[in-house]
Amino acid sequence: MKLSLNTRIVFGAVAGILLGLGMVHLGSDAPVTQRGLYAASLVGTLFVDLLKMILVPLVFTSIAVGVANLRQHHQIHRVWMLTLGFFVFSMAIAMILGLGAANLFAPGKGLNLALFHDAMSNYESKHMGFPEFVASFFHGLFMNPFAALAQGNVLAIVMFALFVGIALVVGGERYRNILGVLHEGLDLTLLMVGWIMQLAPFGIMALLAKLVATQDAALLTTLVKFVAVIMGTTLLHAAVVLPLILFAVTGVTPLKFWRGGREALITAFATSSSSATLPVTLRCMQQHLHVSPGIAGFVLPLGATINMDGTALYEAAAALFIANLAGIDLGFSQQLIVFMVAMVAAMGAPGIPSAGMVTMVMVLQSVGLPAEAIAILLPIDRLLDTLRTSVNVEGDMVGSLIVQKLTGRHASA
Ligand code: ASP
Repeated sequence: MKLSLNTRIVFGAVAGILLGLGMVHLGSDAPVTQRGLYAASLVGTLFVDLLKMILVPLVFTSIAVGVANLRQHHQIHRVWMLTLGFFVFSMAIAMILGLGAANLFAPGKGLNLALFHDAMSNYESKHMGFPEFVASFFHGLFMNPFAALAQGNVLAIVMFALFVGIALVVGGERYRNILGVLHEGLDLTLLMVGWIMQLAPFGIMALLAKLVATQDAALLTTLVKFVAVIMGTTLLHAAVVLPLILFAVTGVTPLKFWRGGREALITAFATSSSSATLPVTLRCMQQHLHVSPGIAGFVLPLGATINMDGTALYEAAAALFIANLAGIDLGFSQQLIVFMVAMVAAMGAPGIPSAGMVTMVMVLQSVGLPAEAIAILLPIDRLLDTLRTSVNVEGDMVGSLIVQKLTGRHASA
């Protein structure tokens, strides 16, 4: 009997966690563990490298073709508005949940402050305030497309591809050959994505085995309440809020969504990168959940770069956690600042592992908290990044289904 790829990925994930636990049991010095970790790094890195290899041609062709397919102007406008509107809406809900939970459970109140001070004294951060961040964000939007493609700068590639797509719409028939080439390029990259996915069960197994085997258990127990609050709230957003919105708007049930999207959700969990997961996300939405290439090709790459529900929730809640550690009470107006800055910070974080940590500095500084405090969050970030990235990707997938429904476009478009 041949198992479906979906099922093999689930098995790979479970096997990876069990292998990781096995290595923890044997101890980090055991030769078997050392060899296991080496093999896991090798296979895991290979899988992520393959995804990254295909990412740049995929983002460029899918956005350019996606936009070009939304031929009529009023539709482009509507898709834009709905997409951005949904991104902001779902991130706002995620942050309200994060702030609500952090206020309710107050993680970090009365925690061992020595740990906090040690971490702070050993860490040097790059300081970047809110105005500098906004300036560098806008500055990074447009650049030489060849440089952006060569450097894999996803945001700048997205922007250039949008231009190309719009020019193809405006130019119409005159550029049908270029559009044809881009179409074929997209099909070709998707074919290669299919091959890379055959390696996914092994890649995911390796990544998860390594993650579990190298977690620092002692630190985790100290920060257990914070980790539990973040994980619990993120899960609430993932398993209740987003599915409810999806069902209310499109009628797609959570089970159908999970069946169609789990390859992407598990890949995001294991790679901690929305960008690296994008090839899988596009495949799931087009092949399993029948989102039209036009909508999927536009909403998903854009979402992978700017729509981050999990990151927004985390950054907002973590700011309150750090404030608690420092013994500072953030009032309503300061929490409002956290809310707004965390939204921009999440949007600005690229879809790569621990990117949220970098933009977190900005959130802390916006309310006068020490940027060095992220030193305490860094060691547990690899763990929290798993679920948060899955939720980031889930938000993009839900967004594409909702935009498709509200613009009344179907698989043939
Ligand atoms: N790893 C996340 C992502 O790729 C970003 C983050 O660090 O929050 O979506």
